Amino acid sequence: AFKAWVVEKGEGGQSLTFRDFDEADLMEGDVTVRVTHSGLNYKDGLALTGRSPVVRRFPMIPGIDFAGVVEASEDPAYKPGDPVVLTGWGVGETHLGAYAEKARVKGGWLVPLPEGLAPEQAMAIGTAGYTAMLSLMALEAHGVKPEAGPAIVTGASGGVGSVAVTLLSRAGWHVIASTGRDSESDYLRGLGAAEILDRAELSIPGKPLGRERWAAGVDAVGSTTLANLLAQTKADGAIAACGLAQGMDLPSSVAPFILRGVALLGINSVTTPQTKRREAWARLAKELDLAKLAAMTTTVGLAEVGRLGEAILAGEVRGRTVVTIV
Ligand code: NAP
Repeated sequence: AFKAWVVEKGEGGQSLTFRDFDEADLMEGDVTVRVTHSGLNYKDGLALTGRSPVVRRFPMIPGIDFAGVVEASEDPAYKPGDPVVLTGWGVGETHLGAYAEKARVKGGWLVPLPEGLAPEQAMAIGTAGYTAMLSLMALEAHGVKPEAGPAIVTGASGGVGSVAVTLLSRAGWHVIASTGRDSESDYLRGLGAAEILDRAELSIPGKPLGRERWAAGVDAVGSTTLANLLAQTKADGAIAACGLAQGMDLPSSVAPFILRGVALLGINSVTTPQTKRREAWARLAKELDLAKLAAMTTTVGLAEVGRLGEAILAGEVRGRTVVTIV
């Protein structure tokens, strides 16, 4: 048996306990991993608290990403001792997840630990940082460039936001960081933000078209905020939409699309194909300033992560949280 956080469903709804878990109860998979690090993402907050029905199988070990070492493998691509990273694929939602000393998964879901990153750094990046890189890649693929104007990042003090600010500024963008936390202005400037915008300005309903303020954006917030982002994007600009911290709705109009040629780029990190996944991780290992990564990272032990679900949903967690497992 090994230690794990376990979500169970009873009469009164979802419950969460830290307890022994029998290895024989792990789900099917061809690679068994000794998990050394995980992370805390918004979706983990939803799973830990049961606020949204992201957990689809009970009992469930939550935790949507991990770094670890292969212990046993029937997949020829991996052998015992290989350092690996996993994000997505329903791990922590439909497949037993990361807040445990062991995980058994499909080899095809793993990527080798990127060269140049320690396992704790890979999880400091985690699903959130990897999603920020996918967002940058989507903007680049669309062809929008820093010469066209500023880039806005919403939810800037959060996990996706902190990494997005860092990556976009390194890529030459004038970054406008939108945050509800006035106290984090210096933190965000330290990561590379050129301007700070009070998120209150974006979270209330605005006009279908507004003043053209930015050429690109990474939005972790959704809802009215995303609608306002689109309405204030310069002609032929693009917004990568990856989150819903404000809400899942999108009270927008077609005006930005048909009158300004603005593009809305959808980002899904869960089922990204291997080639793109590896490209994103290789770029993170090369392009993400590790001193800035350290500045945005807090570390907790496995026993502590269970009580952080509420905190991340309340927007109280800054940057990224690494969970040390062994
Ligand atoms: P996080 O660390 O909690 O960051 C979210 C940030 O959003 C908060 O720090 C806060 O930033 C802001 N925020 C929170 N509540 C808000 C509200 N009511 N209105 C406006 N802003 C609010 O979470 P994360 O792990 O970075 O994830 C961010 C979002 O991306 C989540 O919705 C998550 O589900 C999504 N996501 C999606 C994918 C994908 O594959 N598409 C992958 C990873 C994450 P400030 O305090 O700075 O305002």
